Amino acid sequence: MALIVQKFGGTSVGSVERIREVAKRAIRTRQEGHQVVIVVSAMSGETDRLLHLGRAVSPKPAEREMDTLLATGEQVTIALLAMALEGLGQKAVSYTGGQVPILTDTAHTKARIQHIASERIRAALDAGKIVVVAGFQGVDPDGNITTLGRGGSDTTAVALATALHADECAIYTDVDGIYTTDPRVESRARRLDRITFEEMLEMASLGAKVLQTRSVEFAMKYNVPVRVLSSFTDGTGTLVTNEENPVEAPRVSGIAFSRNEAKITVPGVPDRPGIAHAILGPISAAHINVDVIIQNVSEAGKTDFTFTVERSDFAKAMDIVRDIAQGLGADAVQGDEHIVKVSVVGVGMRSHAGIAATMFASLAQENINIQMISTSEIKISVVVDEKYLELAVRTLHTAFALHGEAAR
Ligand code: ADP
Ligand code: ASP
Ligand code: MG
Repeated sequence: MALIVQKFGGTSVGSVERIREVAKRAIRTRQEGHQVVIVVSAMSGETDRLLHLGRAVSPKPAEREMDTLLATGEQVTIALLAMALEGLGQKAVSYTGGQVPILTDTAHTKARIQHIASERIRAALDAGKIVVVAGFQGVDPDGNITTLGRGGSDTTAVALATALHADECAIYTDVDGIYTTDPRVESRARRLDRITFEEMLEMASLGAKVLQTRSVEFAMKYNVPVRVLSSFTDGTGTLVTNEENPVEAPRVSGIAFSRNEAKITVPGVPDRPGIAHAILGPISAAHINVDVIIQNVSEAGKTDFTFTVERSDFAKAMDIVRDIAQGLGADAVQGDEHIVKVSVVGVGMRSHAGIAATMFASLAQENINIQMISTSEIKISVVVDEKYLELAVRTLHTAFALHGEAAR
């Protein structure tokens, strides 16, 4: 008898019929003799709907109340799924994050899981029940409801699999595995049979939302193999594991992209020590993440300073930078919300020269202007105008020969 954690995302529980299908799938696993813990997201579109409601009622909603609001999405699906299971004759019980409890820190809207008490779940499993747990939510030491950031149900599932020493953590979603790039942008993208934690971590942090970045960090840290599968079709999906491909790793394993980007330029700042800190210090104090940074060569003692932030933080960051720029005697701050970041990723890049050259040449051939570049050992990212997103992804997918049937 194995203990299996199954997570179902928003589309997979998007209607009454689909919730019943999830119930049937879980019952099949139970009937094979396994213990089953299910983690569910809110029904598709529900978290966005709640976010809009919160922002409609107040321009700057309190984050504590936002979490209380957002957590209701998952509370609906756990109850409906437990009812569906019971309706099909299967004993089941639903738990919110607070009922498990899943303890987190106090960072509302992006809390981190600190501890999961497994006793209650174990007792229910031992009583023959399927346990349904709300994804994306927890409770802080003072009993406040917290949420784990967008896509956080993946992290709930991996964290539960770790805490329960589960034999398997299956992430059921609306695609049948992890692809060389988002199959919705490049239809010739190829499904990978397996991918390393390291590569998936890079893909996720560069925008591939098929798994939340933190879920991959968690899986890597505790070595929990995660399988990404379709909730609509049968298949073996993609295994995320620490095992490297036995065949030599390809140079590039995938193309990731992020639309959640914006760029801020402060032209004409004095070129002297302390300027980067003067601009970015207050940004980081406001909990805004800065990603790509460029400072130009100075001319007549002045330089331009450009950096990117998440698009959702753009307005807040612009306000802060405008204040600072005045004090520094810089020219008017420029902002651009119409940029995206496209990245090539692969652990095989470490041992291959020429990846950057191939990348830049193929983008140039399509007349795509590169605005910013950032590199690490296993990725190269470029910032381009958002109108080139699809073209850039497809061009790079072709340039690195990622489509087709090659086994991996
Ligand atoms: P869920 O609601 O099940 O959590 P998500 O929408 O969060 O589903 O994640 C699945 C989506 O991730 C897919 O529909 C796909 O568009 C997108 N995606 C982005 N990059 C990739 C990739 N490399 N492989 C597979 N899917 C990807
Ligand atoms: N419902 C949350 C979201 O839409 C969490 C999740 O689906 O993983 O981000
Ligand atoms: Mg998701």
